[in-house]
Amino acid sequence: MEKKHQLYEGKAKRVYETEDPALVIVSYKDDATAFDGEKKGTIRGKGAVNNRMSNFLMQMLAEQGIATHYVKELSDRDTVVKKVDIVPLEVIVRNISAGSFARRYGVEEGIEFGQPTFEFSYKNDELHDPLINTSHALALGLAGEDEVREIREAALKVNDILREFFAGCGVRLVDFKLEFGRLPDGSIVLADEISPDTCRFWDAATGEKLDKDRFRRDLGDVEEAYQEMMRRVFGEE
Ligand code: ADP
Ligand code: UDP
Repeated sequence: MEKKHQLYEGKAKRVYETEDPALVIVSYKDDATAFDGEKKGTIRGKGAVNNRMSNFLMQMLAEQGIATHYVKELSDRDTVVKKVDIVPLEVIVRNISAGSFARRYGVEEGIEFGQPTFEFSYKNDELHDPLINTSHALALGLAGEDEVREIREAALKVNDILREFFAGCGVRLVDFKLEFGRLPDGSIVLADEISPDTCRFWDAATGEKLDKDRFRRDLGDVEEAYQEMMRRVFGEE
């Protein structure tokens, strides 16, 4: 399968048509952005880490009953996925306070919740991805009631599976963002990526951050953190 016309270039990935209209190829870049695109940089090797880790996790989730867009890894950076109509909601699940949650509610980072939290942001660059509640998402027609229910159930199940998996890698899954999409038959599947760009990972023993916060907050050793997460997930290679 080959890349044809480029459909879209995002901040972290490019999306290409293929000879099959139902499939696209996503190509992961080393480009990194933060703070709504204000901060830009490169994280060497990130594209390959995110591609391989996301594919591995999507296959693991599929085995446990989560429908995903994943089809086939082509190379270190390129993967064939089912083309979906992305639901314009960023689906965020949290186990521990951090980032915008800690800022919004004036609490410190690192508070472990009794149960996971669930929220949506409206995926809209012009509006800077504002937090949105379910009734507003329904009012705007961003998703239907059944879709919202399905997305919520899938996201919480993904959290259960990933939390346990990462615990086995010596990593605490703090929070993460998922995107879902619609296939032509209307069914909902997990899309986009699951990687150190879209999750917060803290070393279980030391609390060291092993994710994009190292880039956002200028903590140094950014490349090393991505490579370390690769080792945790795949073992020594
Ligand atoms: P952004 O658009 O935020 O800059 P990326 O650089 O990651 O993000 O671009 C990838 C784009 O591809 C995103 O807009 C994402 O919603 C979209 N996407 C992810 N998976 C699929 C898919 N299976 N089909 C179509 N589009 C997808
Ligand atoms: N996240 C993401 N893309 C976004 C916003 C958030 O992947 O556009 C992820 C982020 O990496 C973190 C989780 O979602 O794992 C929660 O992010 P938060 O709302 O705390 O935002 P931030 O601190 O980045 O402002």
